[in-house]
This record gives sequence, C-alpha cells and structure tokens, in this order.
Amino acid sequence: MDDARTTRLAPTPSGALHVGNARTFLVNWAMARNEGWRIVMRLEDLDSGRMRPGAHEASLEDLRWLGIDWDGEPVVQSRDLAPYRAALDRLAQAGLVFRCDRSRAEIRTAASAPHAEDGETRYPPELRPPEPWPRTISAWEANHRLRMDPATAPEARERVHDGFLGDHTFDPGLESGDLVVWTRLGVPAYQLAVVVDDARHGVTDVVRGDDLLASAARQQVIARALGVAHARWWHVPLVYGDDGKRLAKRHGAHSLAQIRTDGIAPERVIGWCAWSLGLVDRPCALDAQEFRAAATLSALRAAMTRVSTQRTVFAPQML
Ligand code: GLU
Repeated sequence: MDDARTTRLAPTPSGALHVGNARTFLVNWAMARNEGWRIVMRLEDLDSGRMRPGAHEASLEDLRWLGIDWDGEPVVQSRDLAPYRAALDRLAQAGLVFRCDRSRAEIRTAASAPHAEDGETRYPPELRPPEPWPRTISAWEANHRLRMDPATAPEARERVHDGFLGDHTFDPGLESGDLVVWTRLGVPAYQLAVVVDDARHGVTDVVRGDDLLASAARQQVIARALGVAHARWWHVPLVYGDDGKRLAKRHGAHSLAQIRTDGIAPERVIGWCAWSLGLVDRPCALDAQEFRAAATLSALRAAMTRVSTQRTVFAPQML
C-alpha cells in the first residue's frame, strides 16, 4: 500500500444509500485499490437530528454487500467533537470567525439575490458585528461564521482543479458570503467537519459526487484559514432518476436496501454502474473485483468526461 496517499468513504447515514451513491463509492474504492491508497471509512452523522437508530450499520452493510472494503475501524464524527472545537478555536484566535445570531429572514432581507441554483442566501459583510471579534468561543451552541474576504480568500476567485472535471473557479465571497462553520446545535457545519477530518486523517484524494464541486472551493478557503493542505479532488457526476431529478432519498425504489429486499444480486447493480460509465459495453453482472479491473484511471477519466455532458438516468427496471 502507498501510505503516502489516503482517501475516504464518507457516507451520511441519515438516508438510505442509492444506486448513485453506489456508483460513486465503487469508483472511489476501485481507484484506491488500484492505486494502493489507504481507505478511511468515515460516517458523517453530525446532522444527528435526522439519524435513525441502526443507520450507521445499515450504511456499512450496504457497502459490504457491494464488496467494498476499507482499512481500519470506521470513524464516527459525532463520537468526538474535540478536533472540530479545536479548529473553531483556532479560527477565532486568528480573528476569522464571529458569532451570528441573525435569523435567515434577516439575512435574506439584507442580502442581494440568493444563489441562483439552490436558493442559498448570501451573508453579506455589512451584517458582520463590529471588529475586533472575540478571540475565544464563549458559546458553543451558537452559529459561527467564517469571513469570506481577502483575509481568507486573497484571490477572490477560488480555482478548483479536479482530476476528472478539470479546472473550475468559484467566488465563495459572492456565492455564500460569510460561511457558517459551526451551528447552534453545538456541532461543526459540514464544511468545517470535512476539512478537519480530511486533514487529521491525512486524506490526499477526495472522490465524491459532483454536487460538492462548489463546496471544494469553500473547503479550500477553510483549509487555508486553518493552515492545512487540501486534498486532490475527483468529482463524479451524479445519477438522475427518470423524473429528471438527481437521485435522493425520495427515490425509495432506487435504494440499495430496497434492491436487496427485492432479491437483486449486487453484481447486477455493479454491472449497471460499470455500464453507465462505459466501462463495459452492455449491462451485465460484475463483482466488485471485476469492476475494479475495468476501472483503470484512464478508463475513469474518459468515463467522467462523457457522463459530465450526458446525464446518467437510472430506473429500477434497468436492473
Ligand atoms: N457525506 C457526504 C455525502 O454523503 C459526502 C461528503 C464528502 O465527501 O465530502 O454526500
């Protein structure tokens, strides 16, 4: 194993994994095993309000069913908040975060047009409290925001170089404005948690769905503010349902749990994933090792170029 390279599988156990997740995880796993990267399993459960009992084990079981494995014990984010608190402390000491008690409605009124795609509300610099900001965190159950300005993002436009999708630039200052890095639930926001965990686990290569491409820019800003390196990015285009929407929890029939209950073999799912990426000529049954053999880096690069322009659609009858 090339200990110099590490990746992670980071399922969110709040929702059942679906065929789109399976495709991304298979790609991530195959790259790691082909290239000799270490694989950290990380259960992203900080959004604990939505966690069902047994959800952690269910996610792991779905992945094992596919033939995916990892190295070492799974890391469960909610079990130890100390590393995230230390990171927030560091940002506060550097004068980069402030406590924010404003409601979304208040911010919306003050902000310019919300981010077109997802209706995200930008937090404008005018709403910041006057400086200097406290250098220590006095209340952990409060939203905290990271300033998005030349202090954290000197270039304004943040360039994300992606191993599959090429170069993309984002302007987090305009898109999100000051970014929530800590929530009133007393836990880190997703963006901070990912940066802290990727850094402490020595993650060098992040492979995940391309809905997180814009997040990569934000995570680069946070990593810079914390003085840690960010990983290489490999974003994999998502799979869509035949209703034209990207696969999500509402596509119950597309979940791996349902597919298993229906008695469909994992090889059919894996074969569909390989076919949808053009790694094999027609849908067939493949096990994880056969998928891995077909998923060379050059084959994956060609696949991602294609599927980023031609949407992949999945419907359960395709299995
Ligand atoms: N847990 C996230 C998800 O399931 C992935 C986060 C990441 O890979 O950075 O979508």
